[in-house]
Amino acid sequence: VIQLYGPLNFFGTYYRLIQQAFVDMENMLDLLDIKPDVQDSPFAKDLVINNGMIEFDNVCFHYQNERQILKNVSFSILPGQTLAIVGPSGAGKSTIVRLLFRFYDVQSGSIKIDGTDISVVTQNSLRRSIGVVPQDTVLFNKNILYNIRYGRVTATDREVENAARTAEMHDRINTFPEGYKTIVGERGLKLSGGEKQRVAIARTLLKAPAIVLLDEATSALDTHTERQIQSALQTVCDGRTTLIVAHRLSTISHADVIIVLKDGEVVERGSHDELLTKTDGVYASMWKQQSTSYTNADKPTTISD
Ligand code: ATP
Repeated sequence: VIQLYGPLNFFGTYYRLIQQAFVDMENMLDLLDIKPDVQDSPFAKDLVINNGMIEFDNVCFHYQNERQILKNVSFSILPGQTLAIVGPSGAGKSTIVRLLFRFYDVQSGSIKIDGTDISVVTQNSLRRSIGVVPQDTVLFNKNILYNIRYGRVTATDREVENAARTAEMHDRINTFPEGYKTIVGERGLKLSGGEKQRVAIARTLLKAPAIVLLDEATSALDTHTERQIQSALQTVCDGRTTLIVAHRLSTISHADVIIVLKDGEVVERGSHDELLTKTDGVYASMWKQQSTSYTNADKPTTISD
């Protein structure tokens, strides 16, 4: 217990500073993993986003000296386009996301947004510009109105309601005992996985960021819910630069570019159709494996498993 509480206290101040970002990042990050040594440079300016172009240029990264995690990773996402990262568990997919959020600095290479290196801008402005739809959304023990408004605290009730409509959550909320005033979370009405994801989508719609990060849930929702959520997700990604950490290939065949990450290296890249033409490629074999498990079990399996 002491060992667990020690680091939590130690990181307490830092935690509060980036609390907003954490609620966004949730399961994507482990609080105790975060080093407090990423600091704004004294000359840091706010990030100004015009188009939302993301560029990783020869990024090398390790958490500990002896173990290289990312090796010369390069890719770019054009404004408004969608890039999906797939690859086996431990390949470094979440690490890429953490670096884009600048929870760590790269050891070499660079990460740029609209041509500006993210290491020279304020962390606040960087994280403000990125919306996250995480694997599992954390809810506050407050009403659903508050929970959605969290995406932009200045949003009016009408704006919250509109976001809920677009996320296809509004009708559902109206069936709750006290509508938008219904308390949710651990001590209130429990929401299903799909509903929580819709809350995250509505929050992101309110935040209206130029860049969206989508961390696909490892455990699949049922096929019906999955299909419904896909259309809401599509809306939130529309016109925004989107990075998807994917666990199921079926959900990313529309991506403009797919990169296959293996042991920290980009081993394949291209559109879904392009990657399928390399019949002995990693992607093609993952696709074959997933398609087989679909027909066998009629439910999606995860790539990592
Ligand atoms: P998954 O699909 O299972 O989520 P991933 O591709 O997202 O995996 P990462 O979480 O990026 O993989 O991890 C890449 C490697 O880095 C793994 O071997 C992991 O053990 C290691 N790693 C992750 N976080 C840390 C950390 N804070 N300190 C040291 N090693 C870490």
